[in-house]
Amino acid sequence: MKDEVREEAYAKLNLTLDVTGKRSDGYHEMLMVMQTVSLADTITLKRTEGRGISAVCNFRYIPTDRRNLAVRAAELFCSERGIPESGVQIVIKKNIPVGAGMAGGSADAAAVLRGMNRLFEAGMNRKELEALAGQVGSDVAFCVAGGTALARGRGEALLDLDPMPDCCIVVCKPGFSISTPELFQKLDQIHLRRHPDTAGMQAAITEGDLRGCTMRMYNVFEEVPDRRMRTVAEIKSAMLDFGALGAIMTGTGSAVFGVYQDAGTAEKCAAELSREYKFCSVVRPIKRLSI
Ligand code: ATP
Repeated sequence: MKDEVREEAYAKLNLTLDVTGKRSDGYHEMLMVMQTVSLADTITLKRTEGRGISAVCNFRYIPTDRRNLAVRAAELFCSERGIPESGVQIVIKKNIPVGAGMAGGSADAAAVLRGMNRLFEAGMNRKELEALAGQVGSDVAFCVAGGTALARGRGEALLDLDPMPDCCIVVCKPGFSISTPELFQKLDQIHLRRHPDTAGMQAAITEGDLRGCTMRMYNVFEEVPDRRMRTVAEIKSAMLDFGALGAIMTGTGSAVFGVYQDAGTAEKCAAELSREYKFCSVVRPIKRLSI
């Protein structure tokens, strides 16, 4: 029996994000092409003498009680597997910026589910872990195996796609975050003028056509009237000036990413943007994990 396991909790980006309707249960109907990238938090699960789940995090302002998705995932795993007496400490080392639209909390929760599965040698398969993940949060199911996928519904209905063509991606987050509920509320008040070509994006991915992918990157949340979108637009245009093939906001922001064919151009862009913006990093697409 293992005493400790470690998992990388990879961030996601939205290559497309569409809102296609509002459901009778109040949730929005989403249609998104999601991509895992190499920026990751590290999750270490340690067995402890005591009972129950506890957590520590290097970011002081992140709650370590049940408000933390990682804690909720571990508790759900224990109750589902009938191991309520177990003592586990979750050590979260965050590298993914918080409130960026990069699913940091969801990635941590998914990594906890994979890690608990190994720690307790529970032998759950991918589908079983994704079903548990869906109970923790909308993006958590995608983060279980990641890679490139089409997500529908609240984001939990997944269809595997071929891996995105290899490239370098500059991710840049301005100093502010954008509240997800607030942006959904604002979206409800407008009529969307444009929707992403999701089928075209899927076809470009299948063909391994990076330019085709970048041409079709689009996020409907950028249409929302909000003065912070001016900063988003500024970062996007700087990325394009530095040679990006395409640039959009991910999720409900505030992070923006630009896709580059070569590492040198991406590094130069990141160096320039990091003079002005708080977080800037060069990442790469990551393929689906096998579970
Ligand atoms: P998404 O892309 O899924 O919309 P996000 O990247 O915008 O998410 P997160 O960084 O996941 O947002 O966190 C948003 C909020 O969730 C924060 O206010 C934070 O307090 C809470 N939270 C709960 N658990 C975690 C966690 N493990 N890591 C980071 N934030 C967490």
